[in-house]
Amino acid sequence: MSNFKTKDKYDRPIISLRISITNRCNVNCLYCHHDGMLPSSKEMTSDEIYTICKIAKEIGVSKIRLSGGEPLIRQDIVDIVKKIASLNFKDISITTNGTLLSKYAKPLKEAGLDRINVSLDSLNPETYKKITQKDYLKNAKEGIIEATNVGLYPVKINMVLMKGINENEVQDMFRFSKEHNIILQLIELMKSENCEDNQFSEEYHYDVGKLEKTLAEQADDVKTRDFMQDRKKYFINGGELEVVRPMDNTRFCENCTRLRITPEGKIKPCLLRNDNLVELVKYIREGSTEEELKNLFLEGINKREPFNTD
Ligand code: SAM
Repeated sequence: MSNFKTKDKYDRPIISLRISITNRCNVNCLYCHHDGMLPSSKEMTSDEIYTICKIAKEIGVSKIRLSGGEPLIRQDIVDIVKKIASLNFKDISITTNGTLLSKYAKPLKEAGLDRINVSLDSLNPETYKKITQKDYLKNAKEGIIEATNVGLYPVKINMVLMKGINENEVQDMFRFSKEHNIILQLIELMKSENCEDNQFSEEYHYDVGKLEKTLAEQADDVKTRDFMQDRKKYFINGGELEVVRPMDNTRFCENCTRLRITPEGKIKPCLLRNDNLVELVKYIREGSTEEELKNLFLEGINKREPFNTD
């Protein structure tokens, strides 16, 4: 890991920045951890997001991901992507529920978006409605297909596995993914410190470890992603699956190269904590210099601690 510009005190390079650009969402998933963010109605302007990305680039970040809330709910989403793209990052991506993607896939691609992850936990209309509390399955599927049509690549589906809800849909989702040349990411249901109670995640937690063993047996090839939380990729019958297992996973933390920004503009050093945030946009608004902003980034990086340890 010696060629990276900025590393934390655990020798983890800072490669990607995940910016939550809103807390608002048009669906209401049963399990949602809101990207680990505390509730807030404050948002950053597109110029502030641009400034943050500019500083991030200077400290060595090469990948930007926009998330939320639902990022496509922002009227200025295309403008935000266009501004970030002018900074020439290696990779710009969005995580979305896909419900507005039919409208936005093409303008986002033209604005400089490279790839997209779409959260889709079920292909069954009733289960989809139960999970999201909305009737948007058709819109989400159309959005995913439009994303592949306009050349966003790769398109990934994020599927959170829940015991007794959608655990039996992995094969169907994998078939759909293969059919459209999409990578399927299976995500372990996480607890969240923001949920009023964690009863849901405890009750519906599905043991992804067991599933990984089966996938490993079926796979024609298995690869581990560099610098990406030690995620495994399984290649099965011409399709591709990834497994994301953040809970109690020391390897997830050891290989974490990601810094986060909250919707109200604070640096968030860890997905799983909210007690070590660093103010950033406040200082952009007060006219801080680029050097001062860079130092705030370094302060955030210095606060990074692995959440799960042996
Ligand atoms: N609205 C966008 C979407 O639906 O993708 C972006 C925000 S959403 C919080 C980002 C990702 O977090 C989604 O892929 C979602 O499935 C995942 N997620 C949310 N709560 C989770 C939980 N409790 N456990 C695991 N993943 C979760």
